[in-house]
Amino acid sequence: MSRLMEHFNYLHTIPERGMEEFKTSEYLADCLEQAGYEVTRHVGGKTGVVGVWDSGVPGPVLGLRADMDALTHIIDGVRCARHTCGHDGHSSMVLTAAEEAKAQGLVKKGKLKILFQPAEELSTGAPSMIEGGAIDDVDILIGAHIQPAANVPTGCITPAMYHAAQYMMTAHFHGTQAHGSRPHLGVNAIEAGSLTVQAVAMVHIDPNLSFSVKPTRFVCDNGALNAIPPEAVVSWDMRCEENPAMEEMKEKTTRAIRAAADSVGASVDFSCDGAVPAAEYSEDAIRLISDAVTDVLGKDRLYHPIRLTGGEDFHYYIRHKPSLKAGYFGLGCDTYPGLHHPDMHFKTEYLEDGKNVFVDIVKKVLG
Ligand SMILES: [Zn+2]
Ligand SMILES: [Zn+2]
Repeated sequence: MSRLMEHFNYLHTIPERGMEEFKTSEYLADCLEQAGYEVTRHVGGKTGVVGVWDSGVPGPVLGLRADMDALTHIIDGVRCARHTCGHDGHSSMVLTAAEEAKAQGLVKKGKLKILFQPAEELSTGAPSMIEGGAIDDVDILIGAHIQPAANVPTGCITPAMYHAAQYMMTAHFHGTQAHGSRPHLGVNAIEAGSLTVQAVAMVHIDPNLSFSVKPTRFVCDNGALNAIPPEAVVSWDMRCEENPAMEEMKEKTTRAIRAAADSVGASVDFSCDGAVPAAEYSEDAIRLISDAVTDVLGKDRLYHPIRLTGGEDFHYYIRHKPSLKAGYFGLGCDTYPGLHHPDMHFKTEYLEDGKNVFVDIVKKVLG
């Protein structure tokens, strides 16, 4: 009898924010230890967990990765953590797959490595695991995410979710304070900021690619309404389906902001508020997942690869280690009303399918 729902029902009741997954990581580490894995806690300095099952026979190192963090919501005026992106489901699938692989003695060669990473929502979890050396010896890394019916038909699995690159940038504008009656002696940070909003709207990259860049914050409040404001902050969210084009977009956006600010005499400096690279999958990994889905669920439930404008910090692993064969599948679970919605719920019965695909991948790679 699968323990998947037992794990899920417990993890669902203890949602914790990124880098604060104390109870969650402890539970996952304890269960892995009980199943016979050699467990390392606090990987990357915080809450990351790695479990290893080394067969002692030469062979590939297969990593299964799940994220653990919940999101912060304000519900009835109270700030709280809630699992609205399904990471409790991902951890339950990977943990149960690890337990079942062990119980069935599926690893006959190489090494199986289970990675529970913190803080996917903050985009800092995967980098912290990399920092902790979690993927140094990993050859193949597989992750997964539950999906709404609009992306993946319920009960089906896509073998590749091509997430977009995302970059969140903030520009800090510095002008010159002046009395409201003497605007010619000041540099108005609102004017600098608003000009740059226009300038960035004219940034172009190859229109064959899907991309967007739009302002998401404009803050300027210097107190007095009869004075020229010298400071303003504007943020942009950028998305692009390919990494090289994202670099081009960042460069052109930065140039447009500098030039527009300069045209009214303001200076500007920049900060990055989060970024993730776009997906770059290995054909071998996509084939591996497709074969597993076909064998476990039948070819009718194998959906085609999809492109998404959302980001995912899983792609830092491939960026860090280009030789890594990485794959990431999407599980059609009818997440509703939508991921990140405070009332998000989904058809949990399909988690069992995702778990079985993970188990089959272990069998195929290490059996
Ligand atoms: Zn999310
Ligand atoms: Zn997520």
